[in-house]
Amino acid sequence: MFQKILIANRGEIACRVIATCRKLGVATVAVYSDADAGARHVALADEAVHIGGSAVAQSYLRGDRLIEAALATGAEAIHPGYGFLSENPEFVEAVEAAGLVFIGPPANAIRAMGLKDAAKAHMITAGVPVVPGYHGGNQDAGFLSERAAEIGYPVLIKARAGGGGKGMRLVESAGDFAAALESARREADASFGDPACLVEKYILKPRHIEVQVFADSHGNVIHLFERDCSLQRRHQKVIEEAPAPDMPPAVRAAMGRAAVEAARSIGYEGAGTIEFIADGASGLREDGFWFMEMNTRLQVEHPVSEAITGLDFVDLQLRVAAGEPLPVTQQDLAIDGWAMEARLYAEDVPKGFLPATGRLRHLRFPVATAFETSAVRIDSGVGEGDEITPFYDPMIAKVIVHAPTREEALNRLSVALAECQIAGSVTNVEFLARLAANPEFRAGRVDTGLIARHLDTLAAAPAAGDLVIALAMLAGHGMLDGPASADPWDTLKGWRQWTPARLRLELESAETRIDRQVEMAGPGRFVVQGDSGTLDLTITVLGGGTHAVTWNGRRMTFGIARGPGAVTVFLQGQTSDFGLPDDLAGFEEGGAGGNAVIAPMPGLVTQVYAASGDLVRKGDPLLVLEAMKMEYVLRAPRDGVVQEVFVPAGTQIQDGTILIQLTPEE
Ligand code: ADP
Ligand code: ADP
Ligand code: MG
Repeated sequence: MFQKILIANRGEIACRVIATCRKLGVATVAVYSDADAGARHVALADEAVHIGGSAVAQSYLRGDRLIEAALATGAEAIHPGYGFLSENPEFVEAVEAAGLVFIGPPANAIRAMGLKDAAKAHMITAGVPVVPGYHGGNQDAGFLSERAAEIGYPVLIKARAGGGGKGMRLVESAGDFAAALESARREADASFGDPACLVEKYILKPRHIEVQVFADSHGNVIHLFERDCSLQRRHQKVIEEAPAPDMPPAVRAAMGRAAVEAARSIGYEGAGTIEFIADGASGLREDGFWFMEMNTRLQVEHPVSEAITGLDFVDLQLRVAAGEPLPVTQQDLAIDGWAMEARLYAEDVPKGFLPATGRLRHLRFPVATAFETSAVRIDSGVGEGDEITPFYDPMIAKVIVHAPTREEALNRLSVALAECQIAGSVTNVEFLARLAANPEFRAGRVDTGLIARHLDTLAAAPAAGDLVIALAMLAGHGMLDGPASADPWDTLKGWRQWTPARLRLELESAETRIDRQVEMAGPGRFVVQGDSGTLDLTITVLGGGTHAVTWNGRRMTFGIARGPGAVTVFLQGQTSDFGLPDDLAGFEEGGAGGNAVIAPMPGLVTQVYAASGDLVRKGDPLLVLEAMKMEYVLRAPRDGVVQEVFVPAGTQIQDGTILIQLTPEE
């Protein structure tokens, strides 16, 4: 085993690798960019090396600096994590040329699977079923559109260098093909520096089922069962589970065999995943799954497979890389229970899952949701006070649960998500919680269209009720501050012995001002007028931002997080953010909304479709913004005439910038 390794990554996966290294007594070297100087992975590692600027091209993609850092610190091997350089064969060769070990597959195995077109050709030779389509080198748009017509619509355009769902477009009919191809190429070029695309049949009612494999340098190849990753939006995974619901043992065995064969045929070593697309229209069948791609690295969702096999995959990766044989054989393996993982992101769900940024001024994860320990596993790369920057993937944490049955795992997931409290950035936590409660998902009827079908209910943010508003009002104005104590007499301020004070307090929610009359009726007792009646509340401080409220004979605990100009209330799994008016100068002029197209996040304007004088209809695309390597189309907020376009294509803009102004309505 190695004495010391360097981890060429950041965030949760760097922290995850460090955890296993600690267990094995392997020393760790972290690397960091400017933006990550105070990051959690840096604090957890035994030592850390600064490798450059915040942009990934200046740091985490600088193979030369990573190798220099490993040599300078005496590390023997490099763990690449996922993303960044993890699937880059030239990096693997450079690592090896420097006399270091790459903790991952050989460069040639990565190369064989690196481009989706070559990988498919290879799998056909190895006898693994592949989705019908065109995987060749001719990139002429007219030629590709003819191939699409031959394959039959709907078709899927994919970047051959693609990953993470980028550069992928579903095309329903021939008329949309040219525009979709252009957009896919642009995204592929921006993300991977390679615009080439392939076209394949779009499988209806598709399920994404992938098989985890491990291979060592002694010729042993095993699979560690499947994961179902069908819950996706924009081809990105949202909740993953292992095993797959309603998986017949014969299909499991067939997929496992195909996956092992695929890995063996390319001389694979280490951890890998074979992704299959399965026809889920009428139950899984032995002839109803096709190879999509191989991910030649540890996958984001590996923890669900760790949970059901009881194995530590980073431990296995290190052993295999150090030349040891796999410590388990296929016969040793069995599935234990059911596991689920939800990807918790800083993103604005109602705004179309826009990546968000912000300082996490309050961050609480569930410690355990049952009396057993480790009922919940949280893999996270951030702590309270850390910032989600626009430079990297906005993941906050992976919430992982394991239980004897699928139903119990789902219940635990719901409880765990309800206990996550995050303030300082919008997140998808409530979306995940609604998804975990979705009846189709709970029944195991999953396919990659499930989220889109239920988007309205999954993305709907319920309006805050009287109770939440009252609590936010009191907390926002400092009336719930005080030491933890069961006795309200000596805790809460605001109450004056000599007179019941009456105040009008204000808050802002979704750009509207709310004001309420509040009467301080006794120690810890507040009478707050609401929209549908008056609430008589008694509040005690429990400590750590947690309080209890009693009204009408009911009692609930709730969380509070104050920030400059903002207060957040956490009640029963619902997060409600409010602004405090004094801190929000200029708020009243916000009326430009209907007349202006405003950047919802920082990014690069890549296309401008509108010019001044244009007549536009509500919903017309006006420009394309690229952020976090994804494209977002900004549309006309109403019918009207374009008065002015403020930004040419190629402009890097800040969040909140006015991009296009429409002529004011009469
Ligand atoms: P898959 O390739 O099957 O989608 P994963 O979901 O594990 O597998 O991740 C895909 C790859 O894309 C990973 O290497 C991950 O680091 C990267 N990735 C995922 N989401 C983002 C994102 N929002 N921005 C940049 N990279 C991402
Ligand atoms: P990436 O490298 O971006 O992960 P994949 O080829 O793995 O690309 O596909 C990502 C997702 O797109 C899959 O998980 C699946 O939901 C969907 N998908 C891919 N190929 C097809 C197909 N032929 N038919 C239907 N859906 C597909
Ligand atoms: Mg994939």
